[in-house]
Amino acid sequence: MNDGLQSWLGAQIDTLKAQHLYKTPKILQTPAAGRVRMSGREVINLSSNNYLGLANHPQVRQAAHEALDRWGVGAGAVRWIGGTMEVHDELEARLAKFKHTEAVLVFTGGFTANSGCIPAVLTDQDVVISDELNHASIIDGVRLSPAKYKKSEGFVFGHKDMGHLEEILQKTQSFQKRMIITDGVFSMDGDIAPLPQIVELAEKYNAFVMVDDAHASGVLGKNGAGTTSHFDLYGRVDIQLGTLSKALGVVGGYIAGSALLKDWLIQRGRPYLFSTAHPPVVAAALIAALDVMENDPEPMNRLWANTRWWKQSLAEAGFDTMGSETPITPIYVGDEAAAQQMEKMLWDEGVYALAIVYPTVARGKARLRTMPSAAHSTEDLSEALAALQRVRDKLAVRA
Ligand SMILES: *Cc1c(COP(=O)(O)O)cnc(C)c1O
Repeated sequence: MNDGLQSWLGAQIDTLKAQHLYKTPKILQTPAAGRVRMSGREVINLSSNNYLGLANHPQVRQAAHEALDRWGVGAGAVRWIGGTMEVHDELEARLAKFKHTEAVLVFTGGFTANSGCIPAVLTDQDVVISDELNHASIIDGVRLSPAKYKKSEGFVFGHKDMGHLEEILQKTQSFQKRMIITDGVFSMDGDIAPLPQIVELAEKYNAFVMVDDAHASGVLGKNGAGTTSHFDLYGRVDIQLGTLSKALGVVGGYIAGSALLKDWLIQRGRPYLFSTAHPPVVAAALIAALDVMENDPEPMNRLWANTRWWKQSLAEAGFDTMGSETPITPIYVGDEAAAQQMEKMLWDEGVYALAIVYPTVARGKARLRTMPSAAHSTEDLSEALAALQRVRDKLAVRA
């Protein structure tokens, strides 16, 4: 062990603890569900991205079992060297059909789809124009590219501020290519990007658009096909990223777009080229998850019925859900310490909802982040609501 490294690590950890930024992962002891056992406690889980309850769906489990027996556990190589099995190919064909795009390329995660795609389509003659609340994986993907992107140089627009976006488009006409990139659904606020206006501005100024639909996949649009479907913008969004890890319940990410885009990413998408393919079980489970999404409207209906019930009940109880439009439902607290205390007290009441504080969100804008899903019953949600009210009363926090 190198002493210099060990003492540096220790000092970093101590600093995080002193700043109340130190994280201790909770351990799930049951399959993902509305009610789970976690780190020794039975809780109603309001912090899962398992929107449609597909992570432990019987049909998806069955497909995984069958794929295990047919294909074994590993793909044995990176995608292009021989790790692409028939199931991987079939999954991409199914996703392309689902998304109404010419082609889809799957990566092992949404995070790697961003870091594979963004740098591959940009050169040092280009600029990236970003919403200020874009996800960390978009930011990291952009940083891997040689294009201009920095906020300090004026290439980041205020959250959903279309006037600001247009200003930047006017000032950047000398670049060779311009990419506007945005979350489809913003992961901390649960609001939806103004994609129709973004697409119109892109068309007006000859820029192209990439949307990260990690939280819109399985949630918005026809059968959960995402924001492009939700706003009926087929053929007008150049690059769509979807995740297979959240609503689809397994793991993975994909890029949907033209056949040329896919062809180029196979040549130049570094995580595709240099990281091993998904286990075949993953691809088969995802095909089954797509089957459920396309043929059974019940999980998505339940997700949205629960979402409406949750938001309306919170509003009636006097909580501020910060204008969120999707299942991601922040509950405004404001003060960082109060939000963290509410998280602890809720945990003691048997409800798991994460406090989100600075620097993930702005200082003084601390919140609890709650996510109803198809895996919850109305009983689960009304119990969670009662716990929230008890905790608020105890704290006498004006939430
Ligand atoms: C979760 C998330 C990702 C990463 O997806 P994974 O499949 O979990 O790697 C990417 N973008 C956004 C906006 C996300 O919320």
